[in-house]
Amino acid sequence: MDFNDTPEEAEFRAEARAFLEKHLTLKSANKIATAEDRKNLLKRAKEWQDIKAQNGYAKITWPKELGGRDGTPMQQVIWGQEEGKFDAPTGPFAIGLGMCIPTVIAFGSDEHKKRYVQKALHGEEIWCQLFSEPSAGSDVAGLKTRAVKDGDDWVINGQKVWTSGAHYSDYGILLVRTDPKVPKHKGLTMFIVDMKQEGVEARPIHQASGGREFNEVYFTDVRIPDSDRLGEVGQGWKVALVTLMNERLAVGGSPGPDWAEIMNYAKDAGTMSDQAFREKLADWYVAAQGYKLTKFRTQTALSRGETPGPENSIGKIITANHLQDICNSAIEMQDHYGLINDPDAAPSDAIFQQSFMWAPGLRIAGGTDEILKNIIAERVLGLPQDVRVDKDVSFEELKQG
Ligand SMILES: Cc1cc2nc3c(=O)[nH]c(=O)nc-3n(C[C@H](O)[C@H](O)[C@H](O)COP(=O)(O)OP(=O)(O)OC[C@H]3O[C@@H](n4cnc5c(N)ncnc54)[C@H](O)[C@@H]3O)c2cc1C
Repeated sequence: MDFNDTPEEAEFRAEARAFLEKHLTLKSANKIATAEDRKNLLKRAKEWQDIKAQNGYAKITWPKELGGRDGTPMQQVIWGQEEGKFDAPTGPFAIGLGMCIPTVIAFGSDEHKKRYVQKALHGEEIWCQLFSEPSAGSDVAGLKTRAVKDGDDWVINGQKVWTSGAHYSDYGILLVRTDPKVPKHKGLTMFIVDMKQEGVEARPIHQASGGREFNEVYFTDVRIPDSDRLGEVGQGWKVALVTLMNERLAVGGSPGPDWAEIMNYAKDAGTMSDQAFREKLADWYVAAQGYKLTKFRTQTALSRGETPGPENSIGKIITANHLQDICNSAIEMQDHYGLINDPDAAPSDAIFQQSFMWAPGLRIAGGTDEILKNIIAERVLGLPQDVRVDKDVSFEELKQG
């Protein structure tokens, strides 16, 4: 394990930092999104995306001919770390450029790449990922949205859920069932779908935090040309794994307040002498240091040109649980004021309240705690696999709940 940047990495970090300083302001510790920020987010995100694309920072590891800079995965990590320190409006493009477009590049035709990649890279078009359904989340291969072939088109009927950004997306990658007679993983196919076409209806879900970031999406007799298929018919699971692998490669920054922020808050609030709090603080600190070293291990692997393994799954289990725990403790510390969620009235601009409501979602999105623990158990520790009774049974014979 090597904790330091190589001279080349340090040079790239300085270059990235100078570029970011020229265009953005540093994040302030307690900054949370106001209604005005939310209203302008899409516009700001599109502008920032275009600036990055014009300067070769939009997708560092992509080849130059696709608009990247032929950079290393480590440079991408460094860019993410530095950009994460600034008030950069990246959210609306995270799924499209992180997961959907890499899937289009891997499985799409030359026409697809020509048509979609640059527009997404320059912030003109936003993409969403349509996998999860009401009874198919962790077990996404159990999905029911059907595609039936009709001439040169496929006709889609069904419902997706939790689709982040579907209400403002232009396109999506859509995983559907094309053959219910074969085992569940074998009857799936992936398509590109135009989210603005007739028959696609995105209904935003109102969250406890007040936001409306994800949606139910209904498909009613939606026609998709066979030419917009990604991969072979029945090979959708293989395509989806590429999408999900790209999701896991994201080495994220801090999702919200950490041990240092609650310690500072406790100093101000005069509760540092509380023994129970001090014990919790020590636990958060120790776990955060352990996670920091684990991240260094991932970065060392990337720096040496290796691909990080399934041990990467540990990061989200630690950060999401800590976020929830830290915010819960801060809210308890605030006593009656802990109930106030208004940034203008609550202590610390309500950063702990806002993050507390976001934390449970973080523990679910991109793999729940239990699913990630299964991955670590099976693929890192080599423990026996979960029982899979439906492996060789045709999908239509499975008991449907
Ligand atoms: C903020 C957010 C954004 C999201 N964005 C998207 C998106 O853009 N596109 C998209 O397609 N989906 C999205 N999702 C959906 C997400 O992928 C699913 O919510 C997730 O996979 C869990 O599925 P589920 O909600 O159906 O829960 P379930 O899979 O029904 O799980 C319910 C409970 O059972 C447990 N469980 C399930 N299977 C096992 C098992 N084998 N072993 C042990 N325990 C198990 C789970 O851990 C959980 O506690 C998003 C979710 C969130 C919260």
